[in-house]
Amino acid sequence: MAVASPQLRDDGLHADTVRIALAEPIGDLVYPETCPNCSAAASRPISITKIFSHNSSDSNGADSSGWQHREASAAPLFCAACVQRHHAEEEPVTTADRLKSVFLTELALPAAGTLAFGLFLLKETGAKIARDPGREWVLALIIGVLLFIGLMCLRAAWVNNAYRRVPRQTQTSLAFDFGDDPSTVFKTVPRTYALRNADYAADFAALNADRSQMLLGPAQRRTETKRTIVTGAIILTVAVLGWWFSKG
Ligand SMILES: [Zn+2]
Repeated sequence: MAVASPQLRDDGLHADTVRIALAEPIGDLVYPETCPNCSAAASRPISITKIFSHNSSDSNGADSSGWQHREASAAPLFCAACVQRHHAEEEPVTTADRLKSVFLTELALPAAGTLAFGLFLLKETGAKIARDPGREWVLALIIGVLLFIGLMCLRAAWVNNAYRRVPRQTQTSLAFDFGDDPSTVFKTVPRTYALRNADYAADFAALNADRSQMLLGPAQRRTETKRTIVTGAIILTVAVLGWWFSKG
């Protein structure tokens, strides 16, 4: 299968790589102008998208219902030869992958059910409606609404399952790999980058060090602590008010 499977945090990062931790958002990174795969002069970006699973209720890990997926993309520069190699290694996402991403999911059931029922009614009563639309407009309206809801469900299934259609990384693009960023508005946590080439890793770290250190520095910590206190105070106030009103 050509599509990527979701990863958990830093699981799956190659052991034989240089690890770097950066707090900067992945979309704001600055990349060295050398190729992470072969150290030649680099000019063209390769867009690397990864899918991560994370659990919104991670404190009680037994509950698997909180699993969600998120994407992260980096665009490091590679040399022309490695860009070409990457495209040769790439397995395209097939039509079967795309169909599977929608039809083998739980969201496909309401979509298919509603569409099938709408089409069935249309087949059974279409001729009658065409003969006398003035009398049968309610029936026509019901069929229209069913088909519309069915298509909206199908669209939701397509959009919500976009993560099932992301192509797998190639041997070349794996020269630049990364883990998930579990940061929240209350706490900045650096993302791990796993780089095949040590010199590239040093350049990459140096280019992004200032911004990353600022995001882990005392000013940012103060902002995050303030957010935590304000949120805690709001929750407490709501709880006290709830108790107060339920009492009377
Ligand atoms: Zn290269």
